[in-house]
Amino acid sequence: MINVTKTFLPPQKEYQAILERAWERGWMTNRGVLVQELEMKLKSFLDSFHIINMTNGTLPLQIAIKALGLTGEIITTPFSYVATTSSIVWEGCVPVYVDIHPEYLTIDESKIEAAITSKTSAILATHVFGNPCAVDVIQAIADKHGLKVIYDAAHCFNVKYKGQSIFNYGDVSTCSFHATKLFHTGEGGALFCKPEYYDRMFYHHNFGHQGQEAFQGLGINAKMSELQAAMGLAVLPYVSNIMEIRHKVASIYNAALKGCDLDLLKLRPETAWNYSYYPVIFNSEHALLEVKKALEAINIYPRRYFYPSLNLLPYINSVSMPIANSISKRVLCLPLYPELDEAILTKIITTIQSITL
Ligand SMILES: *Cc1c(COP(=O)(O)O)cnc(C)c1O
Repeated sequence: MINVTKTFLPPQKEYQAILERAWERGWMTNRGVLVQELEMKLKSFLDSFHIINMTNGTLPLQIAIKALGLTGEIITTPFSYVATTSSIVWEGCVPVYVDIHPEYLTIDESKIEAAITSKTSAILATHVFGNPCAVDVIQAIADKHGLKVIYDAAHCFNVKYKGQSIFNYGDVSTCSFHATKLFHTGEGGALFCKPEYYDRMFYHHNFGHQGQEAFQGLGINAKMSELQAAMGLAVLPYVSNIMEIRHKVASIYNAALKGCDLDLLKLRPETAWNYSYYPVIFNSEHALLEVKKALEAINIYPRRYFYPSLNLLPYINSVSMPIANSISKRVLCLPLYPELDEAILTKIITTIQSITL
């Protein structure tokens, strides 16, 4: 069975050698040496702002909303994974959707100002598929209206925009290290923030502890464990190579699908991308369903990332988001991972060509 992705597993011996260090100390969590070493290595590898490793990529979103004191309405994108919206609702705020750009698939910055009300406290947008939002325009809007900016950068491991880490934009960025993501710790994630927010975010992710007996304020438990960090330390040395092979696979798709009746992801200029996903946008849902069925018949399972559009979630007062609705019905992510066999790649390509050429 071929899935949209396959988790990269480092050689087990290398993972075990790192785990041994946790065994020697008898220390499994509470920011042990492995979590701290992973943070240091990630910060230097990514060249990013302050980082706090966490237990997944969703809690950093919730902690960011809570720690920035956001209330009322948060402007967000309907085209993302459900965690972007659910975090807003979970923290007692109201998501206000702004439709997406039809080619970049990120929130349409030209429509944000019209959605701002006296209740708006922030913009929470997703760099979907690792494609950066219009961060400069969004920051200017936020500054003008006194709003905070959070980026769900779950897909953005090692993405650079205008020469620096994409995690450096906005007040807070979050990343996921889930096993299906480019870089992973099994389950895991991180929060990146400007230096002035670091303490607040840190306390919030560890029960508000300020030492053993004092509490700085309210907190929750979002700490990454040593077992998770060990996986990260074992995977990290392979990431550059993983990206290189993904780049090659993406180039093969690009060349083969160029003449087909479909659109490929348009990357924002000045982006150094990470090849995290390979979305294709068919010209009808019918074509997508036909391709999906034909691939499933030969045991290949692409995924409808992201469907349905988040404004249609059952706990949301539905609003019309024509572009996100249309894109989400027509977008399919093709299998993309380093060990993807060439024969399989050829099968995927010929199947799509047979339906869309
Ligand atoms: C994967 C993902 C998340 C959630 O990350 P977890 O580590 O699974 O909690 C959040 N947002 C987006 C856009 C994602 O793709």
